[in-house]
Amino acid sequence: MLKAKKKPVLASPTPNTGLNTTQLKTLAVKQGDRYIVKGQKVWISTAQVADKILLLARTTPLEEVKKPTLGLSLFYTDLDRNKIDVQEIEKMGRKAVDSNELFIDGLEIPIEDRM
Ligand SMILES: Cc1cc2nc3c(=O)[nH]c(=O)nc-3n(C[C@H](O)[C@H](O)[C@H](O)COP(=O)(O)OP(=O)(O)OC[C@H]3O[C@@H](n4cnc5c(N)ncnc54)[C@H](O)[C@@H]3O)c2cc1C
Repeated sequence: MLKAKKKPVLASPTPNTGLNTTQLKTLAVKQGDRYIVKGQKVWISTAQVADKILLLARTTPLEEVKKPTLGLSLFYTDLDRNKIDVQEIEKMGRKAVDSNELFIDGLEIPIEDRM
């Protein structure tokens, strides 16, 4: 159950793949009791204020799965700004909600945060 105080963002699309979700490049590699994530996300709303992230990442490389829809995992975890660089995208309109590009480098996700 989500606690009301938490401010989550959904982070699905990656640059150059967009709606073609099975091709996303963000990779989560299992190391012991955690995943290490590297990749990019784009058009992520409210990441300026969020403290949680619902992150879609590939946990098995595309070349190693039988079907492209396999090997993707969803994580609900802390938006750790030491490992996620949140860059706001300048827009002409829709300014009430911030839009962002996320650069993820070495984000550590405890195994229990995998959904
Ligand atoms: C202001 C804004 C805020 C957003 N906030 C969030 C957010 O908070 N969290 C989040 O996860 N995402 C967010 N998004 C991302 C949004 O979900 C993506 O823009 C969406 O997934 C589409 O990806 P794309 O823009 O790269 O379009 P593309 O994937 O480039 O698609 C462009 C067009 O091509 C068509 N198309 C694409 N692939 C195919 C295909 N295989 N077959 C046929 N047609 C196809 C599409 O229907 C579309 O018309 C946001 C986007 C915007 C613009």
